[in-house]
Order: sequence, then C-alpha cells, then structure tokens
Amino acid sequence: MGLFSGMDKFGLKDIKNDEIFGEKEKSAEPVKEEVKKTVSEEDFLIDRTYSCPVCGKEFKSRTVKSRSVRLIGTDDDLRPKYQQLDPLKYDVVVCPHCGYSALARTFKDIYDSQKKLVIESISKGFHYTEPEGAYSYDDAIERYQIALANAMAFKQVDSEKAYLCLRMGWTIRGKIESLPKDKPGYEAEVKTCREDEDEALKLALDGFAAARTKEQAPFAGMDEATLDYIIAVLSVRFGRNDVASKLISNLIASMTVNPRIKERARDLKDKIVSGQK
Ligand SMILES: [Zn+2]
Repeated sequence: MGLFSGMDKFGLKDIKNDEIFGEKEKSAEPVKEEVKKTVSEEDFLIDRTYSCPVCGKEFKSRTVKSRSVRLIGTDDDLRPKYQQLDPLKYDVVVCPHCGYSALARTFKDIYDSQKKLVIESISKGFHYTEPEGAYSYDDAIERYQIALANAMAFKQVDSEKAYLCLRMGWTIRGKIESLPKDKPGYEAEVKTCREDEDEALKLALDGFAAARTKEQAPFAGMDEATLDYIIAVLSVRFGRNDVASKLISNLIASMTVNPRIKERARDLKDKIVSGQK
C-alpha cells in the first residue's frame, strides 16, 4: 500500500516519499552553483583617482578595497600574507603623465625642491600605460622599479628607499609562490627570482642600517624596535649573525618593546642558536 498510495481517487498522482523533499534539493542546487562562482582578484580592487603633486594632472590607480582582504599570517621578516590576493602588488602609485611614483602612503609627501628633481630626471621621455585589470607580479615589480628610480632622483631618505626595496623583495617572493610548479622552465625562473629577491632584501638591509645611524624614528612608518627586528632578520639571512645577535639581545632585554616583536625576536634567537637560516 504505502502512505500515499491510492491518491488517484483525488485525481492526483501517488506521492512517492523520496519526492517529498526532492523539490527542495533541486532548488538548492542552482544556489550552490552561484556560490561556487569564482571570485577574481579584480573583485577586490577599485580605481582611485589621484591628483599628481608634481604635474598637477589627475589619473586613476588601482587599489585594494580596504577591509575586503583578510590577513592570514606574516613571514619572519614581517611580510604580510593575505587570503584573497597580495596587496603588495598595489602599493605603488605611478603618475602616467610625468612619471612621478611612490608608495601610496607617501605619494603626497614631496617637497617643491624634490618635484623639480623628478621633472628633470624622470619626466622627460617617460611613458607608461597602466596595466589592464589586475596587476601581474611582473607589473607590480616594474612599478617598484619606477618608484625606486623616483626615490633616487628626488633624494628620498634612506629608510624610505630601503622600505621600497623590502617591499619589492616581498613582492618577488609572492611571485615565486605564485608560479605553477608544472610551468616549463619553473626551476630556472625560481632561481632567477630568488636572486632578485636576495638583491632587493640586501639593498633593504644596507639602507635600513644606514638609516639607523642618521635618521630618527619613525623609519618609513616603523618604530625603532620594528626596524631593529627587520635589520636582525635580514642580517641572519645574509650571514651576519653577530649583528643580529646584538640587536636581538637588546630587543629582548628592553622594557618598552611591544610583545609581538619581542616574541619574534626570541624565535629568531632560537633560530640562530640552532643554526637555522
Ligand atoms: Zn604627474
């Protein structure tokens, strides 16, 4: 018999038990499909309008929508890693009209005397087209190169130049991590990128070490303890454990250093002791 048999007497079809909630399951499917729709990097980006402090012209630059990305961790040298995309790719602003370029954080901070230097050394013959859509790592690395050429031209302080090199090194590391392992020539490309990353980070180390002797905090927005920690990590990377050990001891002994940096300094000390890099 069955609970729903004999429904024909109402002029209805028999109800089969497995059909009762079938309707619901079916209607759930398209919703699932929609959730699965791939989210692209561009969904997290917006075009922001800048007014160039050097040439006065307006232009648009791609930027990451604030609060749309989630931090999932940091490397030993404080490189931030995000879930949805790598915001380091969008840190540099480039004016396509005159070539003036800097990190978004410092883009407005340029003196009149420095503007003159940009016009003299950068603007003449400069041509650049903002990439379409999301930036590739190579687009981003090029933008760091342009920003660094500017920083050199307008005699930016060492800490800011070093900070650009640091972020450029981090961006190259991001590129290495993004390379598909089955790509032809993968090993050779990784080798070249690692050399570039080392070069950028070595420049960062030299620049920060120089800045520490002649500048006052904040150093590119960082306090002295953060700067010392970064110098220590990079020193270990390049085999200067003596420099690192001294800085780490001071950080650990200090009463004013924030606990997060202190904890990292302790981890770094353990690494040096155990002979890891
Ligand atoms: Zn401009």
